[in-house]
Amino acid sequence: MDGEFLNNRQGLLRAIDLLESVFHDGNPFQMPAQLPETGIGSDAALDALAPSILGSAARLGAPLSFAHMDPPTPWITWATTLWNASLNQNLLHPATAPVARGIEELAVAWLAPFFGMTGGHMTPGSTLANLTALWAARECAGVQEVVASECSHLSVAKAAHILGLRYRALPTDHCGALVADSLPSDLKRAAVVLTAGTTATGAIDPLDLSGRAAWTHVDAAWAGPLRLCAHADRLSGIERANSVSSSAHKWLFQPKESALIFFRDTATAHAAISFGGAYLAVPNVGVLGSHGATAVPLLATLLAWGRAGIAARIERCVSLADRLAEFVDSDSRLRLLAQPRTGIVVWRPRDSGKFDRLSRKLPTGATSITTIAGERWFRMVAANPNADIDLLIGGIQKAID
Ligand SMILES: *Cc1c(COP(=O)(O)O)cnc(C)c1O
Repeated sequence: MDGEFLNNRQGLLRAIDLLESVFHDGNPFQMPAQLPETGIGSDAALDALAPSILGSAARLGAPLSFAHMDPPTPWITWATTLWNASLNQNLLHPATAPVARGIEELAVAWLAPFFGMTGGHMTPGSTLANLTALWAARECAGVQEVVASECSHLSVAKAAHILGLRYRALPTDHCGALVADSLPSDLKRAAVVLTAGTTATGAIDPLDLSGRAAWTHVDAAWAGPLRLCAHADRLSGIERANSVSSSAHKWLFQPKESALIFFRDTATAHAAISFGGAYLAVPNVGVLGSHGATAVPLLATLLAWGRAGIAARIERCVSLADRLAEFVDSDSRLRLLAQPRTGIVVWRPRDSGKFDRLSRKLPTGATSITTIAGERWFRMVAANPNADIDLLIGGIQKAID
């Protein structure tokens, strides 16, 4: 028998040891340019890859990690991802995934009510969740056009392109939120996409515009999980949408690729985007064919932490962002774009000539850059509940002094 397919306790424990190791890249492994004819063996491959894969990676849970929407992941997701890789279930086939399909249904059923939705399914990201939503909109509501703000995520325009729908971008205010008055009055053939937490600035479109168009989709890829915490009312109106997307690999602390598409009328939406197949026991719903059990780590996290545990971590992130915003606002040399509504703090030096120098001096991993109306701004995203905000503020202070 080929032992490579069996549980190799020693090898797996070695992988955990490597995870904890500190690497000083004295001798990084030279990757062969071509597929090697003879393999080096699994143990040697782990050892060879560890220094570059583990040693050089950005650590998203590090005290100064505050630049992007990618969170650190809890260890229960590492453990359950290991189970997933070993079982390799395919949710396309109930026979290969008798439990995992139910786990996905349950995770969706737990989360959908927070958005006023009845159900949905998982996708590997909100890019595909947005595509799925607009596909359902085209099938169910005869939508011919997608209307979204110019600060909506590029996946919305991409989905319109794939689906052969016209795409119309509407203006935003200086913070990146859709200007409500710009919404056309005739939306009988339109899907309106409202963003709950824009990627660049975290702005929330006026969600009370939900329900005016033939279909309303709320792209809550980033800020959707606010619905589970004390700040849920920042997204009120979302419950009147026809569909909502949210990325669990952002503010639900899941490993990639984990996201959800929710529908208000799930039965109708799913029926409209289902295909049968002679080799399929159940219809294939949505864009994906074979897909894995990403719901297992999600459900494990929700079970381990409960709603309150998720809420506590998101609320901590929100308060870190508020602290940072308060600091920026109080320093006369800095300019805050707006009070953060979804944990994203956007700021710049008042003297834009100082931007580049400051950019070079800011702590690594602490900031990303976004351009608004031709002007560059620093963007910091509170995805890391373990960030040390005093250290971060100290680092900014040192860089501007
Ligand atoms: C990140 C993001 C997306 C895309 O989601 P992925 O999970 O990266 O595919 C869509 N919309 C918004 C607002 C986002 O922030």
